[in-house]
Amino acid sequence: MGIILSCFAGRSRMVSVFLQQDEQIKKVALSFDDGPNPEYTELLLDGLKERGVKASFFVLGSEVEQYPQIVRRASEEGHLIGVHAYKHVNLRQLSDEKALEQVRRTNEAIYQATGQYASYIRPPYGCWKENLDGEVQMVEVLWDIDPRDWATTSSDLVVQRVLREVEENSIILLHDASASSVRSAFRIIDTLQKEGYMFVTVEDLLLE
Ligand SMILES: [Zn+2]
Repeated sequence: MGIILSCFAGRSRMVSVFLQQDEQIKKVALSFDDGPNPEYTELLLDGLKERGVKASFFVLGSEVEQYPQIVRRASEEGHLIGVHAYKHVNLRQLSDEKALEQVRRTNEAIYQATGQYASYIRPPYGCWKENLDGEVQMVEVLWDIDPRDWATTSSDLVVQRVLREVEENSIILLHDASASSVRSAFRIIDTLQKEGYMFVTVEDLLLE
């Protein structure tokens, strides 16, 4: 994981120039990769709804095909659905043709589930093939804070890591793939809402 993670090169290569500070509200974005997950995503959606939070989900096409109803629900509830890849692969290690197929199959699965194509992509490990920008025409969104929630079952650790680094307009990376990650998300939300933060999609954060 360590070596391929070096692909990460900043929060959003293409649109962060549009970022504007809103002096009234401190915005922050929660994002969840690798779903939809049949055990945890709906649990997460329940808690997000209770808390009035909009989040962003970067989904795997193979999982969207298996659980389209979960993705439809997330979309209907106002969350942003973006492309991760079809399988959890490093796109940079694939031929252009194979990498494009990963993106297109995922976007097609998203369309079948939600009736809308995705406009945002976060490739696995943050590894994109920039030579395909013209063909894909999506906004690449990475992250600011990676608490490595996939590597621990301790929500204490995940929450501490996020709260230590968070600031206005942070994009937080989590995974809707474990009970501890879902618990961490709720604790992060409950703490930051008390501090005046508003949770929005990455699109709302980057383009408003
Ligand atoms: Zn991933």
